[in-house]
Amino acid sequence: MVPTYECFNRCSYCNFRAEPGQSAWLTLEQADRQLRELHDRGVIEVLILSGEVHPHSWRRSDWFQRIYKLADLALSLGFLPHTNVGPLSYEEMAQLKAVNVSMGLMLEQMTPALLSTVHRHAPSKVPALRLQQLQWAGELRIPFTTGLLLGIGETESDRIETLETIAQVHRQWGHIQEVILQPHCPGSTQAWQGDAFPNENLATVVKLARQILPAEITLQIPPNLIADRQQLWRCLQAGARDLGGIGPKDEVNPDYPHPHDAALADWLQAVGWRLIPRLPVYPAYDAWLSPHLRARVQAWRDRLST
Ligand code: SF4
Repeated sequence: MVPTYECFNRCSYCNFRAEPGQSAWLTLEQADRQLRELHDRGVIEVLILSGEVHPHSWRRSDWFQRIYKLADLALSLGFLPHTNVGPLSYEEMAQLKAVNVSMGLMLEQMTPALLSTVHRHAPSKVPALRLQQLQWAGELRIPFTTGLLLGIGETESDRIETLETIAQVHRQWGHIQEVILQPHCPGSTQAWQGDAFPNENLATVVKLARQILPAEITLQIPPNLIADRQQLWRCLQAGARDLGGIGPKDEVNPDYPHPHDAALADWLQAVGWRLIPRLPVYPAYDAWLSPHLRARVQAWRDRLST
């Protein structure tokens, strides 16, 4: 679900954003209709992904309230919400914990060099600001997903530094359940003319991540961004264990549709793997949730085990 595509940042590889004021916000009535259509279709997770309203804008509070209410609505209709809407204040993050079973924010890359290139007009991409989000999520005991965006101008040592940073923050708080390794794949509306991150290099990054990150952190790769199935298989061999959410549309990479889950399951089975559903919160973190959220999660766990 996308509360709004408007975003005050302008990352030059973005295929998602609209200019502030140029994109109507999702109303609760529209969201209610969208969600009711998903009932009884086996959908577990509602990912709330949004462009950002500036923290000092007079519209920030409305924007935040809309996100909160959308998560609450999804929860009331039986789904498990996971919100990823850019940097939040500590209080905003604490409030959203009450209506999300997990949350996320891509760290992307720690090198400040990107602030002179792809992130020149993206104040939300200051690495220290994003790292602080990971710290706060840990302090608040929010099961968290983060990740690296690969091929946006970083070097191999930058990737190592980013992975080591995630490992370090996880060792402090124990809250990172998943790390996404997302290769840059050029889209049709982005400004930057950079190349795609080569599919054949992805397994090497998976291997590196597996060496650096603690074993309990799952590595996720997006199958719609890995056109070459041989390379996808190599990523699994190298330690990737999660293929992300498979939904009607990849909002961040709209030029790359998700594979059909049945086709993906067939292919995986043919190469010796099995596709199994998971919840947006890993079992190790159930105890971190409020009794209300825990009951919702348990209901899904019971449903999947029958
Ligand atoms: S990538 Fe995210 S933060 Fe950057 S412009 Fe697009 S929506 Fe905004």
